[in-house]
Amino acid sequence: MSTDKRKEKLLKLQLRYTHELPEKVADIFDTWEKLVADCENPELWELMSRLPHNLAGSGTTFGYPEVTRIARELEQHVRSAEQNSLLKDFARKTQRLLRDLDSASQVKPQDIALVSTTTRNQQAKKEHSQSTIYLLDQAGESDPSLEKQLGFYGYKLKSFSKPKALRQAIQVQLPCCFIVKISGHYDQSFELVKQLKEISGNNIPLIVTAKESSTQARLLAVRAGANAFFDEPFRTTRLIDNLDQLTEKGGHHPYRILIVDDDEPTADYYSLSLQNAGMETATVTNPMDIMHYMVEFDPDLILMDLYMPECSGGELSELIRQQEGYVGTPIVFLSAETNPEAQIEAMSYGADEFLTKPVRIRHLIAVVKIRVQRFRQVKSLIVRDSLTGLYNHTHTKEMLQRELGLTMRSGAPMQFAMIDIDLFKLVNDNYGHPIGDCVIKILARLLKQSLRSTDIIGRYGGEEFAIILPGTNETEAEKILNKIRENFSEIVIASEKGDVKCTFSAGISGYPALESSTDITQSADEALYFSKRNGRNLVSLSHQDTALIAKK
Ligand code: GH3
Ligand code: MG
Ligand code: MG
Repeated sequence: MSTDKRKEKLLKLQLRYTHELPEKVADIFDTWEKLVADCENPELWELMSRLPHNLAGSGTTFGYPEVTRIARELEQHVRSAEQNSLLKDFARKTQRLLRDLDSASQVKPQDIALVSTTTRNQQAKKEHSQSTIYLLDQAGESDPSLEKQLGFYGYKLKSFSKPKALRQAIQVQLPCCFIVKISGHYDQSFELVKQLKEISGNNIPLIVTAKESSTQARLLAVRAGANAFFDEPFRTTRLIDNLDQLTEKGGHHPYRILIVDDDEPTADYYSLSLQNAGMETATVTNPMDIMHYMVEFDPDLILMDLYMPECSGGELSELIRQQEGYVGTPIVFLSAETNPEAQIEAMSYGADEFLTKPVRIRHLIAVVKIRVQRFRQVKSLIVRDSLTGLYNHTHTKEMLQRELGLTMRSGAPMQFAMIDIDLFKLVNDNYGHPIGDCVIKILARLLKQSLRSTDIIGRYGGEEFAIILPGTNETEAEKILNKIRENFSEIVIASEKGDVKCTFSAGISGYPALESSTDITQSADEALYFSKRNGRNLVSLSHQDTALIAKK
């Protein structure tokens, strides 16, 4: 949706709210009249605080701050009253608040606007390189092997020995990452790091490397805004892993936020605001639908209302937390509840944060971003294999299950391929285990580079990989795998004991030929062993006959 469309929708939401507001206020008047007639009815007492509570949460959001202020006072006033007692003073104040609320609901609403999320850097519209890294090394001990190795992983390294030259380069083009080698004058060096972060609008990752790795040095790096710290000498592969993570190579996936709120306009308003900040949203207005959305939408964070008709946000959080896969998903309560006791109780169900409605949108966006970033970092440690950064065995299987579910509903085909490096034991035996590791990493990278960002790649076992290709039929999958197979067989890895070349074999199976993940993995495995038995360096489809081998 374009920003203009979102603004138009926002205006419509406000109009609708303005239209419905008199009715909402009239409901409170009605409840009050009933309560006066039946002052021992607990349900009416509950309603007499819940209705203002809802108004307090939504008023400011839609341009009625006075409605929020008075409704909140009314809610607190009713809650503080002795139950079942309509003392004179209490009634007088209630009536005054009701009148005030009525007037406040009739004024023209204030303008509401989408918060602009354009950063200084975007405004500057400087060209931003996807692969160039700027290295500042004032000692000038340039390391040609670093440049070569980074080149192999798709990064271009530009080295500078003078800060001035680096600043000039930034004016022309921004890099995808800075690396600053700290040497000699610490204070000066870190001051420079800080400046680099600022000049580039604070959103380009920065890695510091230093010979001294004391806590003091690391602390200075953190204060200067560095994203990672390496003590020299470091392994280039570790640096590359970090670069991949920081620069989000392999595609940036927007944050997915699930909004749970029974009040549709409010949910829509938060949804639009988050979309405007570049996030994807889904809205649940009936809490009973929550699990469906957890599975299908797979949110990075849940924004949860506290009081809903069918169940409370607390109960819903507990329900979510009881399922292993969602123990870590951040839950942020967004409610008009201002009572700290009630907030703490709600948090005890497993929420991570409590925001009070109406919330400033900038604040909401900041909280959501911080939580999602940390969640994705932690999740990545759990679901990824540390050597290759690919999904691990368990997560790959889970993803297959999920993709199969999605694909079966959409009716599109989907393929699953198992890959196993040929005679890999010999590589370890002849060239050593570290070279074996290097081969595994190179294949992992080749797969990442060759496949689409929607494809899923996992390390299934030691030298076994699995890939899921949504929206792909058997013939297409076979073609893709054969191309990768050919490329891999041409890669030469230099080792002390001579050059190493490897090949792999693969087996493919998928939907609609088969409809369960167990059947699919089993038949892909059988196809893989068919490839092994028939000479290796081969891609086979499941249930195929030997005629296909001739294609090789
Ligand atoms: P085939 O063509 O039949 O697959 O032969 P292979 O030698 O590849 O198969 P096998 O299963 O006998 O050997 C796999 C070897 O992979 C054995 C194991 O030591 C090695 N391996 C497994 N994980 C790793 C790893 O993380 N690093 C290294 N270097 N080697 C590993
Ligand atoms: Mg194997
Ligand atoms: Mg093998």
